[in-house]
Amino acid sequence: MLIDLRSDTVTQPTPAMREAMFSAPLGDDVLGDDPTVNALEAKAASLFGMEAALFCASGTMTNQLAIRTHTRPGDDVICDYLSHVYQYEGGGISVNALASVSLAHGERGKLTPSLIRDYIYSPTDSHKPLSRLVVLENTVNKGGGCYYTVPEIAAIKKVCDENGLILHLDGARLFNALVETGEPTGAYGQLFDSISICLSKGLGCPVGSLLLGKADFIRQARRFRKLMGGGWRQAGFLAAAGIYALDHQVDRLKQDHSRARKIGAMLEHLPEVEEILPIDTNIVIFRLPETILAADYVEKLATKGIRGISFGKHLVRFVTHHDFTDEMVVEMEKILNRDFYDFID
Ligand SMILES: *Cc1c(COP(=O)(O)O)cnc(C)c1O
Repeated sequence: MLIDLRSDTVTQPTPAMREAMFSAPLGDDVLGDDPTVNALEAKAASLFGMEAALFCASGTMTNQLAIRTHTRPGDDVICDYLSHVYQYEGGGISVNALASVSLAHGERGKLTPSLIRDYIYSPTDSHKPLSRLVVLENTVNKGGGCYYTVPEIAAIKKVCDENGLILHLDGARLFNALVETGEPTGAYGQLFDSISICLSKGLGCPVGSLLLGKADFIRQARRFRKLMGGGWRQAGFLAAAGIYALDHQVDRLKQDHSRARKIGAMLEHLPEVEEILPIDTNIVIFRLPETILAADYVEKLATKGIRGISFGKHLVRFVTHHDFTDEMVVEMEKILNRDFYDFID
């Protein structure tokens, strides 16, 4: 049994999802007539109370399209230092949008109204870039899966409104936040100018992300998607997986969260684990002592049948997901209990 916790992107589509994919009606999406893509886009937009949506190949693409569409060259994007748009998108903010970035250092990667205010430049100061866009991430990957609540976001939205700033959400794991808070999806459409959600993470689809926003914004983003070579034809195969996941695989995210907490309880007993970040959703991040490199530790774990990733010099990350079962939780506990002295030789 291989226990693969490197990411929630490692899942395989279930038989029922495959069935939905292979029986989906298809058309040419670049020409606008793939009925399954159109249905997914309409479904996601209405779920979040947004006017329109755009189905794309990845969350990097939906984030980058949002940033490209919202900004002009020389504009400044405010985000946290830990955010995916800065850390994991190949420097795309500067390449795709010719924009600069102000990096705030929030608690576990979360921005606050006062942190954002610190980075807003005066539009009359010609030395400065023009503050244009704020990007939040929910849940925060590098923050160990912590999440914002709607009132926290509303306070941030107020600062954005007061200063003419646009607000984008990198909601790659937004559904993980929502099943924890119980907040309605509709509230999000009111708070953000645009939202990116991933179907290929906890929702268990093979490929795909959605960008949501106003109709005019989505029209422009669609244009940039084509420019980047991201127009696709019978993409309904993939969109069908997304529709299936939204209908059947959202509520089960709670199981991923409870299994993540079980992993946390196992790690507490291990002598080499110095600190575990609070486990709020499906991400577990823990710290090893200075004497153990995360890369070495992860390599050793893999030889025991557990895969995680190194998330910093001494940090290791596990992410629970659709294909991580209760049997694997039991097996993982056995492996960690039996072998943990090996890890610190
Ligand atoms: C995974 C992820 C994305 C998008 O990643 P892709 O691999 O490009 O789909 C964006 N933001 C966060 C926080 C993520 O974890």
